[in-house]
Amino acid sequence: MKLKKADSQIAKLIELETERQKTSLEMIPSENHTSPAVREALGSILTDKYAEGYPGKRYYAGLEYYDKIENLCIERAKKLFKVPHANVQPYSGSPANQAVYMAVCEPGDTIMGLSLPHGGHLTHGWKVNFSAKFFKSVQYGVDKKTQMFNYGEIKKLVKEAQPKLIWVGATAYPRIFDWKKFRDIADSVGAYLAADIAHIAGLVIAGVHPSPVPYVHIVTTTTHKTLRGPRGGMIMVTEEGFRKDPNLPDKINKTVFPGLQGGPHENQIAALAVCLKEAATPAFKRYGKQIVKNCQVLAEELKKYGFNLVTGGTDNHLILIDLRNKNISGKEAQYRLEKAGITINKNTIPYDPNPPFNPSGIRIGTPAITTRGMKEKEMKQIAGWINEVISSSKSVPKIRKKIKSFCKKFPLP
Ligand SMILES: *Cc1c(COP(=O)(O)O)cnc(C)c1O
Repeated sequence: MKLKKADSQIAKLIELETERQKTSLEMIPSENHTSPAVREALGSILTDKYAEGYPGKRYYAGLEYYDKIENLCIERAKKLFKVPHANVQPYSGSPANQAVYMAVCEPGDTIMGLSLPHGGHLTHGWKVNFSAKFFKSVQYGVDKKTQMFNYGEIKKLVKEAQPKLIWVGATAYPRIFDWKKFRDIADSVGAYLAADIAHIAGLVIAGVHPSPVPYVHIVTTTTHKTLRGPRGGMIMVTEEGFRKDPNLPDKINKTVFPGLQGGPHENQIAALAVCLKEAATPAFKRYGKQIVKNCQVLAEELKKYGFNLVTGGTDNHLILIDLRNKNISGKEAQYRLEKAGITINKNTIPYDPNPPFNPSGIRIGTPAITTRGMKEKEMKQIAGWINEVISSSKSVPKIRKKIKSFCKKFPLP
């Protein structure tokens, strides 16, 4: 109400966006709907103060309660992920990854990660990113035939490149990561192994994806994807990381602040603390399991309609579709589905013959619609709509109407 009075333009746009979210299906795999409790903490007065430093060692006064909040957040993160050290200050996933580079590498060192067109993230050494400009980046990919990791091939590449740091994580890989195999590979050259679980953090907590914690040295994550918190990032050091370098937790902290960032966003940290409390409940475990169940039902249904899924299916929250047999580009499919009320995104497929701005695939995920309470039955319905829209642009207005009324049964949290 106060916003409406102070700034009617912004208030109106927020209102319109709320309506858009209410009446359409958010199926971008990296997105979710936060709880009102998380949003309340995020929109609180905690945005007002500087808190440079860490609890007990701040550069500003008046932080008695900020210290308690950040400590609670850290303790919850440590308990939930079963790690001895957590830094909850990174502004988001990319700054978290930057801090890892700065903590364990010198500029010019060799690093490795999954290439972007094969499902990796920009910060894992893609050419336009700082990670390839300041470090010597060698990229690995997925197998041409299986479209999954070929651990033997990766081991050979690693032996040749002798990287200081290896990233494992993805934005578009529909299968399980074998952390142990990656650790054996990293150990063969004495490299640091960092798991970037941005997409799958919530699945790890729910026990539907193996945790990297027993195998890797460092874990980074965003907090706003399957974990369902505010936009943000975290860095955790495992027992293994501590064993490799007892100073690693201290190095990570010093890199985040003062190495890279200034004052932490404590409103975001408070909201993350709330999210971590929510994620520690049995209800969240059920939620994580349902994300994967939904995704697998959606995958099977889409296969029945003749869709060609990268790797043939999914173990997690996302599906990558190769649209080449459907005579439609990823871009056109994204556009048409958006008009119909289904938000997905165009995506490259491994060894894509088409350029990245007009790729052959789309990426679809179930975290946000599962938050709204949709289950297997609804996945079948949605698969049918996706098929109709992709088969014919004429179906768009009719499906838009159906989705609008369907969404009424599944309110946003
Ligand atoms: C989303 C994502 C990130 C980056 O997160 P931002 O918050 O967008 O900076 C990093 N790594 C992976 C694997 C991601 O999926």
